[in-house]
Amino acid sequence: MTVAQAASVGPSLTLLSEHEMIRQTAREFAQKEIAPIAGHHDETGEFPSATIQKMGALGLMGIEVPEEYGGAGLDTLAYVLALEEISKVDAAHGTIMSVNNSLFCHGLLKFGTEEQKRKFLVPVASGRTIGAYSLTEPMSGSDAATMKTRAVREGDHYVIQGRKSWVTSAPVAEFIVVFTTTDPAKGHRGITAFIIETNQPGFSRGKTEPKLGIRASATSEILFENYRCPVSNRLGEEGEGFKIAMTVLDAGRIGIAAQALGITEASLEASVSFAREREAFGQRIGEFQGIQWKIADMKARIEAARLLLYQAALAKTASRKTGQRFTLEASVAKLFASETAMFCSHEAVQIHGGLGYSKELPVERYFRDAKITEIYEGTSEIQRMVIARSVLGLR
Ligand SMILES: Cc1cc2nc3c(=O)[nH]c(=O)nc-3n(C[C@H](O)[C@H](O)[C@H](O)COP(=O)(O)OP(=O)(O)OC[C@H]3O[C@@H](n4cnc5c(N)ncnc54)[C@H](O)[C@@H]3O)c2cc1C
Repeated sequence: MTVAQAASVGPSLTLLSEHEMIRQTAREFAQKEIAPIAGHHDETGEFPSATIQKMGALGLMGIEVPEEYGGAGLDTLAYVLALEEISKVDAAHGTIMSVNNSLFCHGLLKFGTEEQKRKFLVPVASGRTIGAYSLTEPMSGSDAATMKTRAVREGDHYVIQGRKSWVTSAPVAEFIVVFTTTDPAKGHRGITAFIIETNQPGFSRGKTEPKLGIRASATSEILFENYRCPVSNRLGEEGEGFKIAMTVLDAGRIGIAAQALGITEASLEASVSFAREREAFGQRIGEFQGIQWKIADMKARIEAARLLLYQAALAKTASRKTGQRFTLEASVAKLFASETAMFCSHEAVQIHGGLGYSKELPVERYFRDAKITEIYEGTSEIQRMVIARSVLGLR
């Protein structure tokens, strides 16, 4: 699909064959391989290594990365279509896929040197190993520039000390893009990014986070004690880290919007089938206006979220040529899609009554999984801040 065709995007969207193909591939894979195991992994919190490996083999872990760097060489629309299908079946797989694609691969592709791309991007984009991204610390999340993890240059190495928290895929990642301060006095201009190799001395993993949802995605703290990072592993220049972190999050937020859209679709589909079957007061509950209005509101918001998501995806693809940022489109899509996921999964539980509260159906999982989309990669409050600043022309 081209930018010019964007106007016709809607429920009857016609996709190019390459987009339809990847959507179909992801859909079939999710239904055949992920659906049977999603409940088990949600319950145990076990990382789904086998399915993630297979996703790598299908090209789903580096969709937008050019083939010469191990990826599938497709565009952002292809990425969001595939991520939507995976997340529709299991949002935890969606999280792992999204961090690998958007936060690790996109950052390396955009800011990495040729040598870094060969060494770190190729194995991650091809799905042979997993990548992660670490900005947050125990005392700094939304206000990331106040981070404390410190990197001090000593000759051809930096020595890193500190603790980062809430790192998706950290328990399994081989490489992590980590943001540190190299000059605390300069605030956000003193932040520098590094590619960390997790098999090196001085790196360790801290506590694993017990989570409300996306429980199959592994999340932990990471610790640095005299970790020696070669200068050749610095991503970008000294002091460019904050810009890199924010640029990468623009891409990440499009991924989270796709994940949220997947959860909304699963919530609506489950609700529609239930409303067609379940009877109360002598008729199917779908015949009550009270239930119909819920279904109508869900459907309308889902289609709006879809248009915003695809608009952001097109803006990101266009940016490859224009170099223009797509911060506003990404934040609008993420904000609206994540709040839609929360709304729809909440309504889905309500429509299912007591069964919506039961672990025998996946609807309660959609509800728990939806919440994270309003929190990570910038909370809804932070998205509103980004959007308002952009609209008002403030820095
Ligand atoms: C499951 C999970 C996975 C994660 N994965 C990663 C990862 O892979 N890498 C990574 O770096 N981080 C990750 N995070 C961290 C995540 O991005 C942060 O939790 C998030 O950005 C919020 O930061 P915080 O938790 O410190 O909350 P805080 O920043 O302390 O915010 C607390 C509350 O205050 C509000 N608030 C803050 N500032 C403002 C403001 N200016 N105006 C209005 N309200 C405000 C927030 O919106 C929120 O409601 C993950 C988090 C979770 C829960």
